Amino acid sequence: MSFFNSIGRSITRAPRPPKRSTTPTSATFPPDSQVPPSPSSPQPVQKPLFLCSPFVEAALVKGNFKTIVMQPKYTDIMEWVAVNIFDFYTNLNMFYGVLAECCTAHSCPSMSAGVALNYTWINQDRKNVQLPAPTYVDYVMTWIQNLLDDDNTFPTKSGKDFTPTFPSTVKHVYRQLLRVFAHLYYAHYTQILHLRSEPHFNSLFAHFLAFGTEYELLDIKDIKGQPNVPVAVGALWERWKEMGILEN
Ligand SMILES: [Zn+2]
Repeated sequence: MSFFNSIGRSITRAPRPPKRSTTPTSATFPPDSQVPPSPSSPQPVQKPLFLCSPFVEAALVKGNFKTIVMQPKYTDIMEWVAVNIFDFYTNLNMFYGVLAECCTAHSCPSMSAGVALNYTWINQDRKNVQLPAPTYVDYVMTWIQNLLDDDNTFPTKSGKDFTPTFPSTVKHVYRQLLRVFAHLYYAHYTQILHLRSEPHFNSLFAHFLAFGTEYELLDIKDIKGQPNVPVAVGALWERWKEMGILEN
């Protein structure tokens, strides 16, 4: 599939942000596994704030997200996915940059995303390891930045095609970006509210979910988690579907 179409390139990507400083220890795709946390983890009982009114409705974009995820005419599907992933990564990276001072090894000793859910990372020895959330997020974002900078994975030059592995690569990228969203909603929503950023953050996440489900980049099980180990934002996804913000 050609990177350029008959009318030429219709989408221009924004300049890439500066590279992050640290390097992940894992050169392979990040992990899939989810393990329960230690019994000492906090067990919040009340409804999370992000499910409460007015926060659950706060958005920059009103209505359904279907229209803004549709592939524009004359645009190559691979390029459309690539440019959107670049934008999701860039925007989420900016949010995380603002929230990073609240996300420390002390405040977030694990990559939590639900009462019973801590994501683990696969290290060089192929072992699942618990990492402090800031380390985990840094590994994810560095890994994605390196992919975006790799012209073989995200080609930017005329005549260079996307490889057959591009769809599976972007699914891995998407799953990891979802985990960063999931951690920020679960562990840092109060700070998002203090910054009055919930309309921005909700819109970014709803757009991310709508795009991911439209192009089958997300598995439902990754959004919802396991029945006994749910992802906290799975309930938000369900709520937004009920509200008509997302498609069923
Ligand atoms: Zn955190």
